[in-house]
Amino acid sequence: KNIDIANPTRTQAILNQYGLHAKKKFGQNFLTDVNVLHDIVDIADITSEDYVIEIGPGIGALTEQLARKAKKVLAFEIDEQMVKVLDDTLAQYDNVRVIHQDILKVNLPEMISQEFEPEASVKIVANLPYYITTPILTQLLHADFKWQNIVVMMQKEVADRLNAEIGTKAYGVLTLTIQYFAQAHLARKVSANAFNPAPNVDSAVVKLVPVKPVVEVDNVDKLFTLIKQSFAHRRKSLWNNLVQAYGKDDRTKTNIQSALLKAEIDPGIRAEKLSLAELSHLYIALHANK
Ligand code: SAM
Repeated sequence: KNIDIANPTRTQAILNQYGLHAKKKFGQNFLTDVNVLHDIVDIADITSEDYVIEIGPGIGALTEQLARKAKKVLAFEIDEQMVKVLDDTLAQYDNVRVIHQDILKVNLPEMISQEFEPEASVKIVANLPYYITTPILTQLLHADFKWQNIVVMMQKEVADRLNAEIGTKAYGVLTLTIQYFAQAHLARKVSANAFNPAPNVDSAVVKLVPVKPVVEVDNVDKLFTLIKQSFAHRRKSLWNNLVQAYGKDDRTKTNIQSALLKAEIDPGIRAEKLSLAELSHLYIALHANK
């Protein structure tokens, strides 16, 4: 009973016991390297004060390590079969609550106010389902609640996009989302051998810490609508993307033109050459025109 869930033999035994195998459609790759799990818990700096949100507990390998250190763990799992397994594997941890729900459909601020104490120190830790890494990060960052850090395992290739240099192919809406809300750093790489089954991509643990945005705007969602519109066709100019989004009539064109002038942005530039600060100034200028 005291053997870690992540122990490779125990992981396989649990899967066999329940007649389960990892489901590709849910991005199931179970961590079977206890050292990696300890590292994740250390990187997130989990203490007995922390309320942890976990995404995709699977059979509970990471959940267990978190439960040993944290005050409480709230874990969201989409796969009903896993939820049944967790009932058994995590039975001895009374500070864990597993919720059978698609994380992308969870109202996190509401959940937090129901499940956690007011002013709780909230941390988010996960070995993410890779097929929805970007939507999950986007949801977490845009959601209206305070968090201390986010420590997540993801595909190495996506991790590299988070801090992509301006003007590169990897630079885009995800990079800008991260930049607005957080500072990201690659905490460690993880070999495919640490998982059962081994994913066919490289993995990395990324740590995000919250930051104040370089330019604060009145409505973040609207700023990101503009950013998405600006990047809609990466190979087109900013001007073409904006006209496509806002309309080709003369009045609209004049408004866009004067906003670009005010923000000191060349209409012929491509969005991938623009910094978050420049896009924020463009947003402010466009809205001041209305
Ligand atoms: N935490 C476990 C571990 O480290 O061994 C499992 C990680 S596995 C990479 C991803 C987990 O996320 C799986 O358990 C999968 O069923 C779950 N998952 C996939 N899509 C999900 C979603 N939309 N909402 C919640 N959980 C999801």
